[in-house]
Amino acid sequence: LALKIHKSPAELIKKLMTLGVLATINQEIDTDTASILAGEFGYEVEIKLPVDIEALFMQEPEDPPELLKPRPSVVTVMGHVDHGKTSLLDAIRETNVIATEAGGITQHIGAYQVEHNGKKITFIDTPGHEAFTAMRARGAQVTDIAILVVAADDGVMPQTVEAINHAKEAGVPIIVAINKIDKPDANPERVKQELTEHALVPEEWGGDTICVNVSALKKEGLKELLEMILLVAEVGELKANPNRPARGTVIEAELDKGRGPVATVLVQSGTLNIGDTIIAGPAYGRVRAMMDDKGRRIKKAGPSTPVEVLGFSEVPHAGNTFIVTEDEKLARSIASRRQTRKREEELKNTTRVSLEDLFKHIQEGQIKELGIIVKADVQGSVEALRQALERLNTGEVKVDIIHGGVGAISETDVMFASASNAIIIGFNVRPDVNARKAAENEKVDIRLYRVIYDAIEDVKAAMSGLLDPEY
Ligand code: GDP
Repeated sequence: LALKIHKSPAELIKKLMTLGVLATINQEIDTDTASILAGEFGYEVEIKLPVDIEALFMQEPEDPPELLKPRPSVVTVMGHVDHGKTSLLDAIRETNVIATEAGGITQHIGAYQVEHNGKKITFIDTPGHEAFTAMRARGAQVTDIAILVVAADDGVMPQTVEAINHAKEAGVPIIVAINKIDKPDANPERVKQELTEHALVPEEWGGDTICVNVSALKKEGLKELLEMILLVAEVGELKANPNRPARGTVIEAELDKGRGPVATVLVQSGTLNIGDTIIAGPAYGRVRAMMDDKGRRIKKAGPSTPVEVLGFSEVPHAGNTFIVTEDEKLARSIASRRQTRKREEELKNTTRVSLEDLFKHIQEGQIKELGIIVKADVQGSVEALRQALERLNTGEVKVDIIHGGVGAISETDVMFASASNAIIIGFNVRPDVNARKAAENEKVDIRLYRVIYDAIEDVKAAMSGLLDPEY
């Protein structure tokens, strides 16, 4: 300020004293004080609102439709444990990856691409919805289509239901792969029957859910599955502009002893080139080398391509958005700002819902819907809680049971709650160690009850601002 009004800092400090403000040279003064002070010297201060440079920087440019080109679909495989997610991903990879110069050895970089009928499909190579929810918790949406694997001899199981809810919550279309049809006790019809109980009605029964019978073991039905993926992708008209600086999402990242930070990223729009300045979460750098899913060094990667990137300053997080920029200095300063902010944010995560501050958020109009995940020891209690809680809907807030299940509260439940800004109610169950840790990190409110009535009363009280604070 002194420089601007051609005075020495000492003069300003003296003047401030006469105004009753004891200031030092490296102290900030607020805009009001600055206005009065400058006024004393015959200057007028014009106050400009600070611009959020980071938001501006991260803003996705809007592409005119004529620049958009079709892009491959990005597929995630979900389903109950042991139903064959890994086997299916492996079978698809093995049957469709063309042998390369490197001897046909595929690299596990967290995602891979196959070609069918001349069209590419990108698979996220981490089975299960943990990766899916962890990414969504960071606001990333990479999946275009979810493959729900259900074993034909086992049917719809708790994690199948979880996966269905995850996909629905994210608005991602589901294709059901009924797996293990080679088994003598396989019963695909029963699976379909069970799916209808979760609002997935097979096409042949008049619904719109595509079901494909497959055997990951015998590599049967894979072609049909790929065909269905292409069909759903076509309906979705997936497009991106390949001719601009790249942006996308970090799929996984680690610190490699020899190579430094290594990240697998999925390019979602634009094209990533060697030499690009890149920023992802708290990490930035220059793309030093890129490898595709076959371990080949490549120079550029277009939309829906997964690539391994070397050159980051540190390890970014799965789910971080990455962007390419020409302004290396700005990228570096934003990255370092994020590093310091990360710690602060970890301490106060104010937008999270909890029963404690629910009423405040409702009054401020921030919350119109209270998402709840219900976990209980038996299915009967899950249903009883669900029905009772849903009856609490008021004109102002809607209670939405986004997931209900039997068993201990797991890390997945917590990540799901975090992604959907929901709370978790446990009845006669407890969170396991990982879930407790995750809840602490993600600031997810977990409430445990032994009496159903108490749970209902607490939610009711929270909705009307009458909940007694917990100490
Ligand atoms: P994930 O936990 O869902 O990833 O399941 P896995 O892929 O690890 O498979 C679990 C078990 O089921 C393994 O022993 C597989 O060999 C077996 N399995 C997977 N797919 C099939 C299949 O199509 N037929 C048969 N008979 N077994 C299968």
